[in-house]
Amino acid sequence: MQPFVYDALPMRVVFGAGAVEQVRAEVGRLGASRALVLTTPNQQADGERIAALLGPLAAGVFSGATMHTPTHVTAAALARLTAAGAQCVVAIGGGSTTGLGKALALRTGVDQVCIPTTYAGSEMTPILGETSDGAKTTQRDAAILPETVIYDVDLTLGLPVGLSAVSGINAIAHAVEALYAETRNPIVSMMAEDGIGALAEALPRIVAAPADRAARERALYGAWLGGVCLGAVGMALHHKLCHTLGGMFDLPHAETHTIILPHAVAYNAAAAPEAMARVARALRVDDAARGLYDLAGRVGAKRGLRDIGMPEDGITRAAEAAMRNPYWNPRPLEAAAIRDLIAAAWRGDPPRP
Ligand code: NAD
Repeated sequence: MQPFVYDALPMRVVFGAGAVEQVRAEVGRLGASRALVLTTPNQQADGERIAALLGPLAAGVFSGATMHTPTHVTAAALARLTAAGAQCVVAIGGGSTTGLGKALALRTGVDQVCIPTTYAGSEMTPILGETSDGAKTTQRDAAILPETVIYDVDLTLGLPVGLSAVSGINAIAHAVEALYAETRNPIVSMMAEDGIGALAEALPRIVAAPADRAARERALYGAWLGGVCLGAVGMALHHKLCHTLGGMFDLPHAETHTIILPHAVAYNAAAAPEAMARVARALRVDDAARGLYDLAGRVGAKRGLRDIGMPEDGITRAAEAAMRNPYWNPRPLEAAAIRDLIAAAWRGDPPRP
């Protein structure tokens, strides 16, 4: 067995249908007497419900969370947090809301209770991406990691089908890259394979019946595992490409992951045969890259970058940017092949073996 180092991250997880009812007890467990609820404008009603469940512990609802954690939004939330004298934030929503909670924790040391309602997985990581003046910076710090995560399947029943599909494949991407990560280890690889299997099985069922609670539970479980993978080991080419493309062309996060993943996997296939075998086994297919492309098709996701707003003349620029400060990757980055990969993903072609 290859030697490895495994840093387990401290984290309390409360998982189950109706688990959100425990939010007040969970905030109390952290020793906080006031908690500010965070959410997006879309999920104001969810935020109000959490405030009602918190009762006397509620210090109000800040519903201004938005994509990419802009620092001016964090500044506004920080003012609310300080004025309310809260020692805790409760973030209910997707990765955007979780990001705001993390940004506040980094600045003030407040505790975080996260209640994820998508499959993005940010709640499991000590990683924060923030934007200021159009530039995105990412940092890793122990203070960013949430203290408690409540996974309640009932809060995901209304996640729109299209977003469910791509958000689920976003979670699969974390697990896939964990299997060939430079810092991979057997425990995280076990979680990765199980997470891919759970999501690949659940997502088509959710598309067929969005309120299928059992399928939603499997997907949320898989998303949790995907998030653990992302927080535990380093990511590679796929995540580098998604960060580059998302930042350059302001592309939607989960959709970009869904389109790039089969191509990044095909690029790495020959350099990471063991990982590919595990991905294929989890997907119950013969070829990992093709299986991921077909899964995206089955759940009705867009498969071309041109379909989500990337201009064709951006292909070469994106390839050049991806070659700068590359992440570690099992196969070295070759400029011409990376350009071909982005071009194929732009057109929506199947991945090349
Ligand atoms: P999101 O949080 O932006 O949510 C998208 C929209 O869906 C929002 O309007 C939200 O209110 C709505 N929504 C969420 N859950 C819903 C539900 N159950 N029902 C109805 N509407 C719902 O999207 P996301 O994909 O979860 O997160 C993307 C962001 O998270 C990106 O900024 C990305 O960079 C970040 N992210 C960070 C990490 C990390 O480790 N730092 C990991 C993954 C994603």
